Amino acid sequence: MKRISRRTFVKNMTGITSGAIFFGGNAQLLSSCINRSKVADSLKVFIPMPLQVVIDDVGWWSGEDGSKRQEPYRTGINRNHVPADYQAIADLGRALGIRPQAAFILCEWDKENILRQLPTGTWMGDKWDNSKWIGPWYEEAAEIIRNNRKYLELTIHGVGHEYWEKGAFTRAEWTDSDGQMRPQDQVELHLDFFEKLLNQHNLGPLPKSFVPAAFRHSFGPSEGRDVSLAEILIKHGVNYINTPFSSMYNKERAQYGLFGFDADVMTVDRGDDEFPWTAFPGDPVKVLSGSTCGLHWPNMLHPDPERNPEIVRRWVDFLKPCDEKPDMMLAPDSDTFQHQLAHNKATQATLIRNNIILDFTETDKFPGQTGKGDLILKIITDKPHQFRSDDIDILSESLQKGNELQYKLVLRRKPEMGKVRIRID
Ligand SMILES: [Zn+2]
Repeated sequence: MKRISRRTFVKNMTGITSGAIFFGGNAQLLSSCINRSKVADSLKVFIPMPLQVVIDDVGWWSGEDGSKRQEPYRTGINRNHVPADYQAIADLGRALGIRPQAAFILCEWDKENILRQLPTGTWMGDKWDNSKWIGPWYEEAAEIIRNNRKYLELTIHGVGHEYWEKGAFTRAEWTDSDGQMRPQDQVELHLDFFEKLLNQHNLGPLPKSFVPAAFRHSFGPSEGRDVSLAEILIKHGVNYINTPFSSMYNKERAQYGLFGFDADVMTVDRGDDEFPWTAFPGDPVKVLSGSTCGLHWPNMLHPDPERNPEIVRRWVDFLKPCDEKPDMMLAPDSDTFQHQLAHNKATQATLIRNNIILDFTETDKFPGQTGKGDLILKIITDKPHQFRSDDIDILSESLQKGNELQYKLVLRRKPEMGKVRIRID
């Protein structure tokens, strides 16, 4: 985030005598440097960037990278996956108070061999036989997932990750390597079977979020297709796609830099992961600047599953400080994430004497419900304050003490209030 220093700001604002400080567009910080109010003199207000944790390629039971023999890449680790690997995701979520997104591949969860009816979905085509993976670990893992809904969010990644024709695959399941979406009827079928596999284990309904397999994705319709993947997804209730824009086709169509709306589906740039998908485990140190902490399942697991908690602890220690920064926050779930990202981008904040004014005019131009939900503010100050408002509900207020005081306000918008005032006492 670009922080505007007092000196720069005063220089830029020479000649402006109003006490109001105004930042357009990316309203993330407002500082009270020329405000005459004693109350506001020491205040800095942030609309923090939300950070979401997204974990890819969850769901495999085999860890083998089978790509050399026309099987999927899977996770490429030298052991099978076990229920403890699911527990690791839930443990991460619980320790941080968030719902990490687990982007699932489900073919090895098929206990009825229904994927024989989806020959493009697996390496065995209509001879699909998954009997070797049927066992008590299904229910053990499913129970972990069901019991930890607050700490693990199921996300669609794919049925088999790649796309098979005549026994050979091409990358990837939803979109090919030239950026063309697979035929619409196949996309619909793959979504239907993904949901059927969830239902076999009482893990439905179909999730509302999506990570494209192998990050092959086109924003908007691809060459030779009438509709975009997003248009199909939204018909199935999916309203959010997370993928790196560096490998997204037609990325220039994304309207707001870090994100865009494709058929009203919020599509967010994942940025670059710190680790390759094969890093097993990872030891995170990278400074996060975007809105997504993307990783692959092996990056947070240990070769000995009993030692998974050691690796989870590394990720907790790495991520927790992000939540303590004034200009960042860990998104507790993907709904909050989407709203907060919209606010971070478009909600304008002004400090006038002892009032914070929030203007949602630009935010409310986003499609659908994006930006209409809760908003988090962080306020840095050197002395205690109280915050009140008739215009917006202050759902919670928490205080982090350090060299300065840092308040965190969770705010709930009232319908029809396009501009609100929060009084600081
Ligand atoms: Zn993947």
